[in-house]
Parts: sequence; C-alpha cells; structure tokens
Amino acid sequence: MTNATAEAPALVVNDVWRSFGGVKAVNGCSFEVKKNSITGLVGPNGAGKSTMINLISGLLPVEKGEIVLDGEHLEGHTMDAISRKGLIRTFQVAREWPKLTVLENVLAAAPAGNREAVWRSMFGRRALARQEAVLEARARALLVRLNLTAVIDIPAGRLSGGQKRLLEFARVAMVAPKMVLLDEPLAGVNPVLGDELARAIHGLRDDGATVILVEHNLGFIERNCDTVIVMATGQVIGQGSMQDLRTNKAVVEAYLGQA
Ligand code: ADP
Ligand code: MG
Repeated sequence: MTNATAEAPALVVNDVWRSFGGVKAVNGCSFEVKKNSITGLVGPNGAGKSTMINLISGLLPVEKGEIVLDGEHLEGHTMDAISRKGLIRTFQVAREWPKLTVLENVLAAAPAGNREAVWRSMFGRRALARQEAVLEARARALLVRLNLTAVIDIPAGRLSGGQKRLLEFARVAMVAPKMVLLDEPLAGVNPVLGDELARAIHGLRDDGATVILVEHNLGFIERNCDTVIVMATGQVIGQGSMQDLRTNKAVVEAYLGQA
C-alpha cells in the first residue's frame, strides 16, 4: 500500500472487540470512514455505538483489533495521545470557563503546548503578538459562524444550554482536529437549535475535519450525513445512504422496522 492517497480512508476500524463481563458490546466490528465525510453511526439501543466511540477515542482500551487514523494506529494509545494525533470527541474539550468571556473561552481552546515560548524565542515579541492576533481573528470568525457574536464578551457561565453547546463546537474547531466524534449532540438541547448544530457540524467539515455522528434522530442523520453505518449487536450490519438502508433487509429487521 502506498501512503495516503486521495482515496485513503480517514479512519479504518478493523475487527475490533470489547466486552464488559459477559456482554459483548463490540463484537468484531469493522468499517471505514471516508476522508472529510460526515458519517452517521446509528443502530438500536445497546448496539455498541457509544462503546465504539469510546474505543476510537481511547477512553476504553480495545481487547483486540485495529483502529487506524490517517495511517496511524490509535489502539493502545491514551486518550491524550489520540487527541494529539488529531482525533477528539466533543466532551473531551474541557467544560467552558464560566467566568471567562465567550471569546476568551475559544482562545483558551487553541492548542497551547509551548507555542508561546517557541514563538517568543524564535521570532520575538512582535511575532508572538501577530500570532495571537491571528488566533483571535480565527476565534472571532468561528463565533460569527456559530451565531455567538452577540454574546462574545459576556461570561460563558451566563449562556443558555444551547449556546454552551455551540461554544463547545467553536472550541473544538479552534483545535483544528482531523476527526471529530459526536455522540448524540442533539441530546438535551432545544430542537430549534438543530439547524445551528447542523451548521456547526458542516463548518467542522468545511474546515477539513472528518465527522462521525451518532444520533437517534434519523431525520437529522439523513439531512446531514454523506453515508450512514448501522450497528446492531456490536457489529456493522449495513452502510449506505438512508435511502439505501430503508431497503436493506438486515437493517430493517434489526433497526428501521422498530425505529
Ligand atoms: P449504544 O450506544 O449503541 O446504545 P453501548 O455501547 O452504550 O450501546 O452499549 C453496548 C452494550 O454494552 C450494552 O449492552 C451496554 O449495556 C453494555 N455496556 C456499555 N458500557 C458498559 C460498561 N461500562 N459496563 C458494562 N456494560 C456496558
Ligand atoms: Mg449510546
């Protein structure tokens, strides 16, 4: 195999297993996620979707199998190491700092490392100031995109639940991840926020990220995903457009027939 070509998948999950006591939550699961796609992951309750997300992000160790991001193996690595490789799930971004303003919260999410020290030593104070100005411009642009300009200077603690979720997207975008995992992003927010969350998800993709979206709301999945993977009893039982899946016998029997 040659190095990353245009067709190389962003993520390969190959024969991954994980059980909890006697429960085989993920049971020889394999799939590929196309680069720069928004890929849905659906299935009945208990299908193993959240466990799969936990395995990919490194929250849980895999028992067996491979998970490869952009050619790099993730299995066996810690969650921190995996996030440094460019894969994050939303709750991984620390909660907002309630006393900092919305803008300060987004700036605080930019990967710090020893950025400051490096820039100062290499390029001096003025270059550092320029770098900070670039980050601030980026943060402001993200807040415009997410419709948070009206609250840019208020403490994040005063935002509504929906606005906090949008802020979380701004903070994720600030990290410029390769891949973002979203496990039920609509859960617990007002349905009228759906369109804004959809815009936030497409914004991540427009910036170059690949997105995996776990969601029960199949309308939302159909409107926003390029392809949909269906899991049941810890395995993938189908993949395609929602339209294809409606005529997929295994998928209808295990999931859509009841959904
Ligand atoms: P889904 O997200 O598709 O609803 P989950 O991945 O949460 O499914 O769960 C898959 C199966 O694994 C279920 O039977 C669930 O009860 C079990 N399970 C998930 N996490 C744990 C855990 N931490 N301890 C024990 N069993 C778990
Ligand atoms: Mg779940």
